[in-house]
Amino acid sequence: MRIRDYPRPRGDTGIGFHWFPDLYHYDDSYLDTFLPLLKSMGASWLVILSHPQRSIPASFIRGLLEEDIEPVVQISTPYIAFLKQDELRELCERYASWGVHYVSPFKEPNLASRWPKWEEDLPERFMDLLIPCLETIYEVEGIIPLFPPLSPGGDFWDTVFLEACLDILNRQKKRPLYEKMAVAIENYAFNKPLTWGKGGKAQWLSAQPYQSLPGCEDQRGFYLFQWYDEIIRQKVGRSLPLLGTANGLVLGDRSSSDFPPIDEATHAQRSAQISQMMIQGELPNYFFNNAFWLLTAEDASPFAQGRWFRPDGEPMLKASVAALQEMAKESRRFRVDLPEKIRVLTDGEVEVMDLEEYLKGVLPREMGKNAPLEALKAQAVAARCYAANAVKYPRHREVGADICTTTHCQVWSPTHDERTNQAVEGTKGIVATYDDEIIGAFYFGHCDGRTRNSEDVWVGALPYCRSVPCICGYDFMYGHGVGMCQRGAMKMAEEGATYEEILCHYYPGIETLAQGSTYELPVVDLSPEIPHLELWEWPRPPEDNGLGIHLGLDFREGALAEELRRVKDLGLKWVLLVPGDEFQMERAIRLFWPQGIMPVVRPYALIDRSHDFVRDVKVMKGCGVPPYIQIYNEPSDDREWSNGRPDLPLFVSKWVNNALAVYDAGGYPGLQVLDVGLLREVIAETRRRGVMNLWGRAWFCPHNYGLNHPPTYPYDRINQEGIPVQNPEWEFVAPIEEVNRWREEGKNPGQTIHDDYNCILGFLAFAKVFEEELGFVPPMICGEGGWQYRSSQDRRYPVIGDYLHASYHQQMFAWFKTGRLSNGAPLPDYLFAVCPWILSGLDADAWYSKSMGTRERTIALVKGLLPFLRELPTPPDDPEPPPDPEDEEWTMTVRRELRAGLRGIAGNFPRAGIGLTITDPWGNSVVTTSGSKGEHGPGGFEVRVWANGLYTLNFLDQRFQVMVQGDFLFLTFTQISPETLPLARLASDWMKEGEGEALWKSLEGDERYEGLFLLDEKES
Ligand SMILES: [Zn+2]
Ligand SMILES: [Zn+2]
Repeated sequence: MRIRDYPRPRGDTGIGFHWFPDLYHYDDSYLDTFLPLLKSMGASWLVILSHPQRSIPASFIRGLLEEDIEPVVQISTPYIAFLKQDELRELCERYASWGVHYVSPFKEPNLASRWPKWEEDLPERFMDLLIPCLETIYEVEGIIPLFPPLSPGGDFWDTVFLEACLDILNRQKKRPLYEKMAVAIENYAFNKPLTWGKGGKAQWLSAQPYQSLPGCEDQRGFYLFQWYDEIIRQKVGRSLPLLGTANGLVLGDRSSSDFPPIDEATHAQRSAQISQMMIQGELPNYFFNNAFWLLTAEDASPFAQGRWFRPDGEPMLKASVAALQEMAKESRRFRVDLPEKIRVLTDGEVEVMDLEEYLKGVLPREMGKNAPLEALKAQAVAARCYAANAVKYPRHREVGADICTTTHCQVWSPTHDERTNQAVEGTKGIVATYDDEIIGAFYFGHCDGRTRNSEDVWVGALPYCRSVPCICGYDFMYGHGVGMCQRGAMKMAEEGATYEEILCHYYPGIETLAQGSTYELPVVDLSPEIPHLELWEWPRPPEDNGLGIHLGLDFREGALAEELRRVKDLGLKWVLLVPGDEFQMERAIRLFWPQGIMPVVRPYALIDRSHDFVRDVKVMKGCGVPPYIQIYNEPSDDREWSNGRPDLPLFVSKWVNNALAVYDAGGYPGLQVLDVGLLREVIAETRRRGVMNLWGRAWFCPHNYGLNHPPTYPYDRINQEGIPVQNPEWEFVAPIEEVNRWREEGKNPGQTIHDDYNCILGFLAFAKVFEEELGFVPPMICGEGGWQYRSSQDRRYPVIGDYLHASYHQQMFAWFKTGRLSNGAPLPDYLFAVCPWILSGLDADAWYSKSMGTRERTIALVKGLLPFLRELPTPPDDPEPPPDPEDEEWTMTVRRELRAGLRGIAGNFPRAGIGLTITDPWGNSVVTTSGSKGEHGPGGFEVRVWANGLYTLNFLDQRFQVMVQGDFLFLTFTQISPETLPLARLASDWMKEGEGEALWKSLEGDERYEGLFLLDEKES
């Protein structure tokens, strides 16, 4: 995971606090007291302690999340000891369902006081306890395990301890954990200046574990995060997020005798300064938050000395509270982390240089003073990026240098030139970035008309090192070909390109950023995916065509039989029914379901009355029908309430309760609302209550009434352009001239379904809400809708007469036959059925109406569509079962070849399609597949590597290692299976006289070996 993909709270300030230092203060009253105080000080993180088995109450977590405060849960145990993994998993799953993202097991393992017994091999013992926890937490979707915080310095020196622990993770092959892990940190500022430790170990070589030389800064200060980051980059290969769990200053702190103890004024001034540095982007992106120790504690607590408030909210550190409250607060900004100094290896000596001064010595040698100025500027930025990466990942670590002055790194000499200096100064502090990181800006002499993809030259595809065309004019390559072609850059500059255009051409996708410029990061939503039925797993009627109707309300036996005849005559496969009681329900189900028609049930239930939906589920299950149950209907309609007064909050709460009951009883709860805002409220309620899993088996019931709008509304030309009446013979509510005037005045150019969803495409607006809130759209069964006979709500459009009633319904039903909606979009798989209102009854809208006759034309057109089957989503093909590694044994033979200037690993497998991961000595991996390089055979592969060392190859649970020594390796992999093994023979010089010949004779007689062997004359 990239640093920017780790979750942060909305409006993140990077400011946080540590809650009470115990487990006993999670009553709502404390939240009521402290939430306003936290918000007033700009806090967006809160570190809270959790019992290993009992969770912090959901209401407490919810209260924080509702105020956009990110909880960091620290599991608290009296001593560091074994945690039961099933309990830990259960705890974390509960936290995940409430929206927590970060959980840390244990605290300060480098302190003797945290251990029942203090022993020598502490990191090993600790990692034995920690690794299972990290793995358990890692498995919980939505939760990121935190490597626990260490005490700065400590009984076992923290930096040494961290290094040792990461070494153990690497050694035990636990590197995959780094993919989703963060590290907790206690970078207390003590009573030292806030700059203490700045620059990290690279700047303070003489700082040694367990001692601090006079005048030499060590890691025990605010900038501890830089020291940890250096260690993490060295051991992990990249930065991991560092989350503050206890930070800031403690009143009266006198840890260092070189500085005065912390008084109230200093406490306030430095606390505000830390917060300002966070907000203004002066601290690196990987340092996520500063959690001030300690928000509050009881008077008798041993930690009362550090608290900002008493438990009743009265400030103890008045000046500090005021300083944070007065501070202007905005979302935290980020900026590029560009070093000021670089350690240069020149003539065997390490010289620390100012980065910009160093660059002035690079440009004359790397591009020359006569190049066009914009090309020189592009070169200056590229060289700056290269140097910044060298500081981050020192290229001469063994001698304590970042970079050398030869072609191995970047050529440098003390010679400066006015023009090249101008290029460096003109781009001072400007770097190119990709994904918030300074790019590895490779460059070379010239290309042959195209640059190269990085993975074609080295291991690893860099997204900004793509092959691009180049105008340098050469037809052969000088250099590696990855990144910027220097000759091409000069040519571009001559033709008028700016340095930014040059850089963006050779490094596609980059941004150029000045060191001082800051930017905001988007908020990442890392809610765990809701486990849900896939669309193909839901029950549907046999020979489904998606067509349905709302049944009439007469459930007497004779009437139902008549309805069934009509439904079958129309070729419909879905019916929505509203039985008055469970007997009516059962009667209808037993009639329709055996005929292959899916009954979707809305039990008649007023929202403010009680109704036993679970009983309905049981009846449906008893009839053997999938229990699609709609819970309540049109909650904003007064007719759905016994007292005639809609109470939407009551609806939301009753729907969630009943849906949960139906869900638990094994039914499919259905939701019906007419308003997208109300849909969001229902989803929010399930989120608040931690029951989002409900959506895994819930469906939505749109009522997509067309009013008197056409099936293409709101995308039709009348609405968009106001075109005049085309069919004057149709019936309008006013004379044509007036209708045309309304059309002109009422047109809505550019209107979309999300602006007006009062039409049959309206379900699309609800789908968008589901997509945003849940990440998927549940099945939709339109339980009412279509066009009501004689509708005339929108005076711009004709009245719905027989002709339009028929034509419009035919167009809606045709979605399922053609696979296209009226607006041309593909029919979404989640739209299971449309059941327009209503098949029969006294109602004027009824297709078989006792008052308005039968809609003969509509019935004829719908029947004209038949028969057809709708295309249903299918499950993805089952992947081939992986071969059982128990049955497999592989051998590898190695052939070495010297090729000028090329290192590589190539080879052949017995078959194509085997995934192969090659990992370099630093843990970087490239993935390839056998068969990708046909010239080495049907299972051939090839990757270029750029350094010598031990490479690890993994495939099919097999693991091999090869040493690259400046050569090109050909590997042949052979599978030894139980079938081929008995055929293996060994012929050797050590065989007894005559045995070799005998073996040869027997092999020669076997046609499988014919021509494969020659027997050498044995020298005597
Ligand atoms: Zn070098
Ligand atoms: Zn070129």
